[in-house]
Amino acid sequence: MKTPVPDYLAHVLDQCHANTEGALADYIPELAAANPNRIALALSTIDGTIYSSGDDEVEFTIQSMSKPFAYALAIQEHGLAQVLEKVGVEPSGEAFNQISLEKERSIPKNPMINSGAITTHSLLPHKKTVSRAEHLRRFLSELCGRKLTFDEQVYQSELKAAFRNLSIGYMLRTVGVLEEDPEHIVHGYIQQCAIKVTVKDLARMGSVLANGGKDPVTGKCILDRQVCRQVLSVMMTCGMYDAAGDWLTTVGIPAKSGVAGGIIGVLPGQVGIAVFSPKLDSHGNSVRGVEIFERLSSDMGLHLMEGTPSAQTIIQSRREYDDGMVVYELRGVLQFTETEMFLRELQNEPVGKNKVVLDLTHLTLIHDVGARMLFEGVKRLQDDGHRVVVLDAESLLSEQQSKGHKRVIVQQHLHDYLK
Ligand code: GLU
Repeated sequence: MKTPVPDYLAHVLDQCHANTEGALADYIPELAAANPNRIALALSTIDGTIYSSGDDEVEFTIQSMSKPFAYALAIQEHGLAQVLEKVGVEPSGEAFNQISLEKERSIPKNPMINSGAITTHSLLPHKKTVSRAEHLRRFLSELCGRKLTFDEQVYQSELKAAFRNLSIGYMLRTVGVLEEDPEHIVHGYIQQCAIKVTVKDLARMGSVLANGGKDPVTGKCILDRQVCRQVLSVMMTCGMYDAAGDWLTTVGIPAKSGVAGGIIGVLPGQVGIAVFSPKLDSHGNSVRGVEIFERLSSDMGLHLMEGTPSAQTIIQSRREYDDGMVVYELRGVLQFTETEMFLRELQNEPVGKNKVVLDLTHLTLIHDVGARMLFEGVKRLQDDGHRVVVLDAESLLSEQQSKGHKRVIVQQHLHDYLK
C-alpha cells in the first residue's frame, strides 16, 4: 500500500495553481524577477517524515520567515527576560515595516515586524570572525539538516533599496534600543533575510518547533521547549503581518510569511508545513500560499482552536495478578487532562495492601504537570496502604520531575520486574 498523503498534497497544489491573483514583491528589485508560476508544498511530521510536492527543490530567500528562528536563537542565547526588555510581544496591527514603537517603553512591539526583527538580530550571538547572520545561517542549517547558503544577489539588491529598514535602524539607535552602529545591524538583518531555503527545509525546521525543540531525525534537543512555546505564541499573534486575526480565525496555525512568497506553519505536537508561491496579496502574504493553508487546515482538521481530543486511551491496559498485584500500562502523552483521567481511574483501587505498578514505558512524553499529579497520586495510593512501583524504563521522567520520589522509581522493564 502507498500512503495517500503525497497524492493529497499534489491534488491541493493542482487546485491552487489556478489562482493567478496577487503581485510579485518589487521593493527588492531581485524579487520582482522571480518566476510567478512557482508553487511548492512540504509537510514534515514530528517523527521526521517529509512529504512534498511541486517545486520542492527550488530555493528562494527566507526573508521574514527568518524572524521566528532569530527570535528563538536570541532567547536561547540571552534568556527570555533579557530579550523581553528589548522587544515586546504585542501584535501591532500595522504594516511589517512601520516605523513605530510601543508607546510606554519605547521598544519594538514584537519580533515579527521589522523594528523588532532588527533589534532581535542585534541580540544574535556573534564573534569577531563569525557574524550574526552567519550564526543564524549555521543554526538554520542545523535545524534543517543541510548546509544553507546566502543569496548574494538578493542581499545586494535589498541593500541598495534599504532606506526604510535603515530609518528603522536609526530610530532604534536614537531611542537606545540598538546600542551599536545601526547600519551594520540593518545590513546583517538584510543578510539574514537572504538565506536560501526550499519548502522541505522550512517544513523540517517547523517540525523541530512542533516537536518542542527536539530534532525529529537526530533526536537532539536543539531548542528548549519553553523557547518553542514563546516563538509559536508570537507567530500565532503577530506572524501574518496585519492579517494575523484573519489568519488565526480561518487557518488557526502559528505561521510566518516572507515577501519572497514562502509561508511556514507549525502545528504544535503535529507537523511543520511550508508553502511557496511568489505572488503576494495586499498584506504581503503569498496568495496561493494562504489558499493552500486554508485548504490543509480545513481538510486535515489542523485549526489549533479545534483542540485535539485528549487521549482517552491513556490506560493501555489494567491487569490483575493472582497475588493481588495490579499493573497499569500507560500510553500516549501525560498532560493535565490525561493524568486527571488516570487518577480518577486509580480512585477505584480499593484501600488495601496491593502492589500497584504504574508502567510508563510506552508513554511518549510526560509534562511537568503530569509528573506532579502522578506522584501526588502515588503518594495517596501509598497513604491507602498500597505498595507502588513506577516503571520508567525509557527514562521519560526528567531528573527534575522525579526529584524526591526516587524510592518509587524502578529503571527496568515490567518482565524483569515480574521475574
Ligand atoms: N527583508 C525584508 C524586509 O525587511 C523581509 C520582509 C518580509 O519578508 O516581510 O523588508
